[in-house]
Amino acid sequence: MTTTLSIVVPCYREADNLARLHEELSALDGRLDAELEIIIVDDGSPDDTFDVAREMASRDPRIRVLSFSRNFGKEAAMLAGLRAATGDVVVVMDADLQHPPELLVQMWERIRSGDVGQVVARRTRDGDPAVRTFFSRLYYRTVNSLIDVELTDGVGDFRMLSRPAVDALLLLSERNRFSKGLFAWIGFPVETIDYRNVGRAAGESSWTFRQLVNYGLDGVISFNDRPLRKLTGLGVLATAVGLLYLVYLLFDWAVDGVDAPGYITTIAVVTVLGGIQLLGLALVGEYIGRIYAEVKARPHYIVAHDSARQDSGPDGPQCR
Ligand code: UDP
Ligand code: MG
Repeated sequence: MTTTLSIVVPCYREADNLARLHEELSALDGRLDAELEIIIVDDGSPDDTFDVAREMASRDPRIRVLSFSRNFGKEAAMLAGLRAATGDVVVVMDADLQHPPELLVQMWERIRSGDVGQVVARRTRDGDPAVRTFFSRLYYRTVNSLIDVELTDGVGDFRMLSRPAVDALLLLSERNRFSKGLFAWIGFPVETIDYRNVGRAAGESSWTFRQLVNYGLDGVISFNDRPLRKLTGLGVLATAVGLLYLVYLLFDWAVDGVDAPGYITTIAVVTVLGGIQLLGLALVGEYIGRIYAEVKARPHYIVAHDSARQDSGPDGPQCR
């Protein structure tokens, strides 16, 4: 029985990279004892990513192209690709060749060797700006204290999953998808392979600073409610300190009588507590916003074109 390896490639503005990616993937042919299926998900790119992909698909029957009606983000594109993948093993990789196709051979060997459910490629941070490395480290340390699965620095979305792991992942239907957390949540034995960081082949990273911050926030908040627990802890602490201080004031009053000054204390207490309350309210608001998104239960994305379906077109989007 031949095994099929599905390669899922989320693409946003990757017209200049697809040909090279295809070339490098095709070069692997003899080295993997698997049939390849390449699923290119065009995440509503404004450039001609879709035309390039479609043209490639017309020449190579192993390629399937899905195209979104607009940009829905990488998480949605990955989800669409994972849902479309039919392989016994599925790998998700970036289109910009920052995830070296070479590595698939090693990953494939590991996952074929037996009980491994996920093989993760971990990049070293060579060549990253020092500031970014610093903030990433800090971020992972903070996040890990706030969520109940362990995230590792440098581990991204470049991973190969066994069919059971893919099916498990597809059971998680949440709209706020923080896939680093989801991958960790599903479990299965994980193996890690290190690789050297490489720069993008062409184009630039489509992440803006604001998106990174949002993504970071999502990581902490959308994953579980542990931050709310921490907030409860903070509330208990503030109350306890307040009560102790009150006891002290009463004692002071009983011994020395009324002592009028205390302006600074009053202002300090009002502002600090006010700050904590606003923060708490904002955090609760963040959760409500996410509940709102989940309750509306909109599809994660809209597929406008699917090369495997003749009838798909802008008039008949597939909503999922
Ligand atoms: N990507 C996507 N949708 C988006 C943004 C990015 O599908 O809205 C894809 C992009 O085409 C690439 C991968 O996600 O294949 C990683 O994006 P990028 O290289 O911009 O991020 P970085 O490597 O800087 O993390
Ligand atoms: Mg990249």
